[in-house]
Amino acid sequence: MIEFHNVSKRYPNGFEALKDINLKIGQGEFVAVIGLSGAGKSTLIRTINRMHDITGGTLTVDGINVMELQGKSLRAFRRKIGMIFQSFNLITRTTVIKNVLTAFVPELPWWRAFLGIFKKEEKIAALEALDKMGILDKAFVRADQLSGGQQQRVALARTLAQNPQIILADEPVASLDPVTARQVMDDFQRINRDMNITVIINIHHVELALQYASRVIGIREGRIVYDGPAAQVTQQILDDIYQGKREEATV
Ligand code: ADP
Repeated sequence: MIEFHNVSKRYPNGFEALKDINLKIGQGEFVAVIGLSGAGKSTLIRTINRMHDITGGTLTVDGINVMELQGKSLRAFRRKIGMIFQSFNLITRTTVIKNVLTAFVPELPWWRAFLGIFKKEEKIAALEALDKMGILDKAFVRADQLSGGQQQRVALARTLAQNPQIILADEPVASLDPVTARQVMDDFQRINRDMNITVIINIHHVELALQYASRVIGIREGRIVYDGPAAQVTQQILDDIYQGKREEATV
């Protein structure tokens, strides 16, 4: 369970990107965070794994106050939370399997990380993760030889190899064409349903958000203005979230 109590986030320049956020997200939920560009979606998602520190209120994950974590306990906590980015964040000049194996690097003694020595179990786990994502046949292909959709699957496989409880995805389909975007959303849905992994996605395609997520959180200027089932989102609610400025969805 992820719980925000009166959370705020003020950036060092004084800008308050999150204001009085109160939320509870249970294990296994599929949540889409929507709102205009600059509303605070990415900031919200990135506070959960402490990529950004909150500056007010309390944020707990399974009862652990994330602001109290440091050093080893912070690294162990971050392992439970996978992160997926719009830009895939792969090492493009190396093979797919080596990209997935980087999931284990934070755990390795420095010399194994330095020499790139992985145990058999780690290699098997990496191959299994690729198999789960349907791209086992690409294991020894260089990452930059793959399409955008395949690269996002490699990023998902790398995240799965770390056996996460939660996956945070920051605009994961924004740079994909509409057909591939849907395929990647199908992957998220499968991971969520089959593995009971909590998925929280920052997404600007409203139609995809409503179709795939079971719960939608609408953010406007750093505040939650809607939090409820995707099936109950009306045009009026969308107008409120997007202040009537919503561009035509591209998917
Ligand atoms: P979204 O994901 O909804 O587009 P963000 O969470 O990225 O929005 O940003 C929310 C607001 O916080 C924006 O106004 C943005 O300019 C501001 N912001 C983001 N990062 C920083 C930062 N490092 N310093 C100051 N302001 C920031």
